[in-house]
Amino acid sequence: MICNNLSVNRVGHLCLGGQDTVALAKEYGTPLYLYDADRIRERCRTYRRAMKSAFGESAEALYASKAAAFRAIYRIMAEEGMGVDVVSSGEIYTALSAGFPLEKAYFHSNNKTDADIAYAIGQGIGYFVVDNREELDAIESIAAEAGIRQKVLLRLTPGIDPHTYEAVATGRVDSKFGSAIETGQADEMTAYALGLSHVELVGFHCHVGSQVFDSDVFLRAAAIMLSFVAEMKQKYGFLTKELDLGGGFGVRYLSSDPEPDIAANIAEVGRAVREQCSALGIEQPAIRMEPGRSIVADAGMTLYTVGTVKRIPGYKNYVSVDGGMTDNPRYALYRSPYTVLLANRPHDSGVPFRCSVVGRCCESGDILQENVELPADTARGDLLAVLTTGAYNYSMSSNYNRIPRPPVVMLSKGTHTLAVRRETYEDICRNDL
Ligand SMILES: *Cc1c(COP(=O)(O)O)cnc(C)c1O
Repeated sequence: MICNNLSVNRVGHLCLGGQDTVALAKEYGTPLYLYDADRIRERCRTYRRAMKSAFGESAEALYASKAAAFRAIYRIMAEEGMGVDVVSSGEIYTALSAGFPLEKAYFHSNNKTDADIAYAIGQGIGYFVVDNREELDAIESIAAEAGIRQKVLLRLTPGIDPHTYEAVATGRVDSKFGSAIETGQADEMTAYALGLSHVELVGFHCHVGSQVFDSDVFLRAAAIMLSFVAEMKQKYGFLTKELDLGGGFGVRYLSSDPEPDIAANIAEVGRAVREQCSALGIEQPAIRMEPGRSIVADAGMTLYTVGTVKRIPGYKNYVSVDGGMTDNPRYALYRSPYTVLLANRPHDSGVPFRCSVVGRCCESGDILQENVELPADTARGDLLAVLTTGAYNYSMSSNYNRIPRPPVVMLSKGTHTLAVRRETYEDICRNDL
């Protein structure tokens, strides 16, 4: 199996974290999001342990919560001692309402409104990761009114193209995010921030992209960022306390994807950071990394019931399920690969049936995956599992076609708990006047 939390039990049912998906689908209905909470915790521990060992005790792992943001996840992060990244007031509200300690939250986004900034400061956010000059000015004036000095990091673009998909590449000079080092803008922003009295500059941030399998990208980013840290020390006497190297470790969507060794990759970055700091004659800043996808992706799975099987001889075949782009828009957005399996019986050894697995929306682009191989007798009532859906599925879901969002069920040590209930039609009309 593609991930070691998957198995098939003696009656041939697919299991996640040892629990029978057929039984879970029967109890909660489909479509259904499942999360293996034990796997999420294991990943948090892997990151925390690897970072403390690679960068020292001052290092912290932050969970980029846009990957999956609901109360149960923030509770897990609080219990595991993780920091979090948030990107909106809605995520801040959710984190707070789950009891997450906001002083460990880093507020991202390239366009925070005055209302966002006031809300975050009012609630005691730990850090802003500042994208631009307008934001610095707004924080300065809102922090002054609140009578505080707000800690901030500046988001910089080190000018790296991680050679991943265009839509998820963010570290290049021409990115919509951050200030480029190459153009001198990062230097200007630093000087400007240092001149403000209600802003405390604590360091710098970069995020080069997502689905990165190669630690080389992190090594290059760290090298560029540390040179910048040394330059700012020399030029302004500024001592960088925190350096955030971003997120983006890849996960396995297909069995042909590599399985990245997170701890080994982080250890390698740790060695490079130590060496470079000593070569540059700077104190090593406290390091932050902010994985999202690799914390939650393979903890997740979505279950669907097959509705129709349509064969167009000489052309193609379709298997329609009771969910689709409303619960997983990622194929429609980026042609993201996913592994799709029949969950209620084993794949037989007969000639497979090649099909597109599609959703129920009135939209031809409502496709979950193409070129899927399923048993030839796949039929209405069968249960399909889309694997590795823990990241950017629930968090990107919508009510297009007024389709209610599926519930989220957390699995842990043989028990299952509802974390987000299924939306009702009433929920869908709640704000309609
Ligand atoms: C999305 C994002 C992350 C997390 O990326 P993953 O690929 O999910 O690990 C981290 N940092 C920033 C700034 C992001 O925007």
